[in-house]
Amino acid sequence: MHQYTLTPCQKKNHWTSLKAARRRLEEHQCLLQFISVNEVPGLYQLLSNTAKEGWGVEKTDDMAHLALDGKYHARNYPLFHKELAVLMYELGGGTALHALNKSPFMLPSHHTIAEMRRQQNLRVTVGDVKISDIMENIEILFHDVDPGEQGCVGITLSQDEIAAEGRLCYLEDTNEIGGLCEHATAHLKTFKMGTNLTVIEAAVKYIREGKIHVGKEFSVAAFSRHAPTDYGAKPVLMLPTCKKSSWQSSAQNLQKLAWAWRISPFGEAKHGPLDTIASDRDPTRKAALYLVCMHRSLGVNDPLYKFLMNLPGLNLFTGNDFVTMDFDYKHLFKRLCTLLCSKMGMLVNGVIINKTLLAQWLEKLSGHDWSDESIHVLLNPKDHQDVPRAVKLLFLIVNLRQLDVSELDPSKRHTHHAICLLGDMFDALVEPFINPTLSLSEQMMSLITFAHIVCAMFVKHDGAFMSNQLYGDRQCMVKNELHAPSS
Ligand SMILES: [Zn+2]
Repeated sequence: MHQYTLTPCQKKNHWTSLKAARRRLEEHQCLLQFISVNEVPGLYQLLSNTAKEGWGVEKTDDMAHLALDGKYHARNYPLFHKELAVLMYELGGGTALHALNKSPFMLPSHHTIAEMRRQQNLRVTVGDVKISDIMENIEILFHDVDPGEQGCVGITLSQDEIAAEGRLCYLEDTNEIGGLCEHATAHLKTFKMGTNLTVIEAAVKYIREGKIHVGKEFSVAAFSRHAPTDYGAKPVLMLPTCKKSSWQSSAQNLQKLAWAWRISPFGEAKHGPLDTIASDRDPTRKAALYLVCMHRSLGVNDPLYKFLMNLPGLNLFTGNDFVTMDFDYKHLFKRLCTLLCSKMGMLVNGVIINKTLLAQWLEKLSGHDWSDESIHVLLNPKDHQDVPRAVKLLFLIVNLRQLDVSELDPSKRHTHHAICLLGDMFDALVEPFINPTLSLSEQMMSLITFAHIVCAMFVKHDGAFMSNQLYGDRQCMVKNELHAPSS
């Protein structure tokens, strides 16, 4: 049998190879040990970089140590991680995504996924609100919306503010600085970046002097169609704001929006005329709404006149093209509850109905399950924006009408009578918004009942019943409901 013998030189080479193999094995074991007992951030991305960059085991181990110390961030996110981050952002918001970005999973940040989340490249307002910007956004959002068989429908323009990050940004398409408030136009000649730092330096100077501001909120205006399909609000104006603008400029912006819708081939011509401008309780915009929507009275030649002329007490003032204003009914429910839950309360037929009185009467309600929420919690809410709680309280007051008062003394009966009147009023107000079985006529009759009760009480008690603003807002809401279906 042939025996294989190694020369001394071969022996030495094999020995060296064995030593190297053992060392590599040891490095592998070290790396495996390190990543299995430590929460290395972004491990998936790090190992992916190992293959991509051709790192050895030693280099990978070094990078894993750096990653654990927060000195290395692998950012080659696979598509799956980006999609997961978008989902987390939609479900849990910016805070949840930030937490996951800082966790060992190291999901992409809000900025990384911004491009993916953007479905449309809408124009953000820089400087003055421009009709051309609004028209471009209308085209982007409405050009492929099918008007359907019904053709033109009524359109609502709504406006409200949303929170922003409060930082400036560079708008690549137009080479401009974005994010400055509406005051910037009065101080900066241009927002174009140009080839030097002049514009940036001027902006920084005025911001430090407090003459212009970085918008902490965006004022967003959106059009929505009163149609069975594709009725969601589509935002056509995104204006960075410091919320210190005047009601005159707010009115101008509303008129620009209305005009842009009117002249855009993808606006009124395709989808129908604007008939309502809706808002929250923002006082500046409310003043602007009165200017835009209450400056002409219906005349005998107007088509709506014959329908509305026989409604005594109805304010027949509208804006151009019969545009009326509306206020979010949920806001009105909440404001009514806030008033009831205050010490001042509402004066009804000589009885002050406030939280103290309501607590005493709600106790008498039989058959109501108070296990999940006490009367105290209902009347002393931590969150004044809680709409279901507001509707619940209004309905409990409606239910107080059913109480048996035959055993009560005349004074208590007088109080109960006042509560019943308030219950009738709330029933007429809330029912059209929550009962889908009501016909359009029944909804109208209910809201007109509400308008008459609230008018009678306001004439009798003035500000002790409710504030002028609250009264005005709810009559506007009822008037808008009367106007909208007829157009
Ligand atoms: Zn400002």
